[in-house]
Amino acid sequence: MNIILFGPPGAGKGTQAQHIVKNYNYFQISTGDLLRNEIKQKTNLGKNIEEIISKGDFVSNDIVNILLKQSISNLKFKDKIIFDGYPRNLLQAENLKKNLFEFNQSIGAIVFLNVSRDIIEKRIIGRIICEKCNMTLNEYLDHKEIELHACGKEFLKKRKDDNFKIATSRYDTYMQKTKPVLDFYSNSAEFHQIDGSLEIQVIKGKIEQILKV
Ligand code: AMP
Repeated sequence: MNIILFGPPGAGKGTQAQHIVKNYNYFQISTGDLLRNEIKQKTNLGKNIEEIISKGDFVSNDIVNILLKQSISNLKFKDKIIFDGYPRNLLQAENLKKNLFEFNQSIGAIVFLNVSRDIIEKRIIGRIICEKCNMTLNEYLDHKEIELHACGKEFLKKRKDDNFKIATSRYDTYMQKTKPVLDFYSNSAEFHQIDGSLEIQVIKGKIEQILKV
């Protein structure tokens, strides 16, 4: 089944998605990563995207849709996708439904990681990501893990868009634009809400229960 992992930036979607990928052979499709990849490649599209992301705004639905369709149409990913950070507004939710239908797929679970603004701010400001293995750690909370990190701590870097001003702007954008999508999904039978401030392992367990059904 395909899964949507929902929650404001910093809710722990990336960490949980990594776990599902590793243990259930899923493919994580993060629109944020797809967009950052365009920036890295320094394409014309990438330059345009960089400006939008640095302001904490949303990239246009058309751009996101093009990048996303490339993943949905890939047979290797069929029914094994975790959508991370997508859909972010109602139009994207409709596009997703259409695109999945076109490729004979659907959404099996919608998991919402619910976390307060206070916690999210702390998490985003301290977040560091390993350039080599993609592991996410927090410089305020994970001292031991940072020291012992297998790839070496020199690979642990802050994301360019992780600072207080951008963090709050991203949270506000989320609340304003993504909340309606959440309301839209919350009535569906596939919707599950999990307290995202719980221990990572506890959340993993709850998600595993959902995947077993
Ligand atoms: P994320 O890595 O999911 O936190 O996304 C980082 C940034 O990429 C966001 O703040 C947006 O500017 C942009 N972005 C990511 N996903 C989407 C999306 N589905 N629609 C529009 N913009 C997006």
